[in-house]
Amino acid sequence: MRINTSEIKCLDVCAQLHHYLWIDCIKPVAPDSEALTLGKATHSAIEARLLNKGIPTLATFLPTPFECSPAKLEALELTLVEFDRRPHPWTEVIAVEQIVDRTLGTGDTIFGKIDLLARWQGRLWLVEHKTLGGYRSPTQLANYVRTSLQAGIYTWLAEKLEPIAGLMLNIVRKVSLKAAKESPSSALHVEFLTIGPDLVDHALLDVQDAISRRRSAERPYRNRESCRNTFGNGMCGFYGVCWGRETLDSPAFTPYDPLAHYTEEAE
Ligand code: SF4
Repeated sequence: MRINTSEIKCLDVCAQLHHYLWIDCIKPVAPDSEALTLGKATHSAIEARLLNKGIPTLATFLPTPFECSPAKLEALELTLVEFDRRPHPWTEVIAVEQIVDRTLGTGDTIFGKIDLLARWQGRLWLVEHKTLGGYRSPTQLANYVRTSLQAGIYTWLAEKLEPIAGLMLNIVRKVSLKAAKESPSSALHVEFLTIGPDLVDHALLDVQDAISRRRSAERPYRNRESCRNTFGNGMCGFYGVCWGRETLDSPAFTPYDPLAHYTEEAE
């Protein structure tokens, strides 16, 4: 089987959600939340810079229409100006948005797109761009990595190339406009986190578990109680379907290709 990291993460969250998104290939029409839209646009703006595609504004990547406080947008645009002004923490960019694949002993191939591989102090680091709503302490960030399936899988994928020193979280904080004007560097932070072999081993166990669930062709049980904890009430776009209040053929849903953004062949 050839399986993508996003599909594995989806299987890890909810098997029913996976069935809708990856087997039925149906997604909700509702637009992303404001936080997710801003996070995606910030990611794209940073990616364009690292790919030497100029220094586009955040607005370039926002959908139209997009409702958001002008002060919030201006603060993020100023943060990008600061990102352009100050030196990057890494000394050499090795790969940007690169698709990497690697085959398990079972013969199953995992593939994913790595945000950035960069060298710092002679060693290779995974770099992940993250847009956060507020301050996170180093302990909170370390806990994120300790419980992150993504960090473990991507480390394993990247170690196909050479040993990975750790994960550099390239954080953009959504600060107030006042803070962005008075202290723009406060909106940017880089956290260096080590990734132990245990994390990778646990991630690979989760991957194998996800693959065995993926092999099961049966429609999974709709675990409506656990999804309250996963998304909060009503946060999952399929909540109405799982509760029998609407069906997938309603105008609230649309067919889509879950792998559309993988335009390149895995290398
Ligand atoms: S509503 Fe709950 S059970 Fe249904 S797909 Fe979403 S997370 Fe899964």
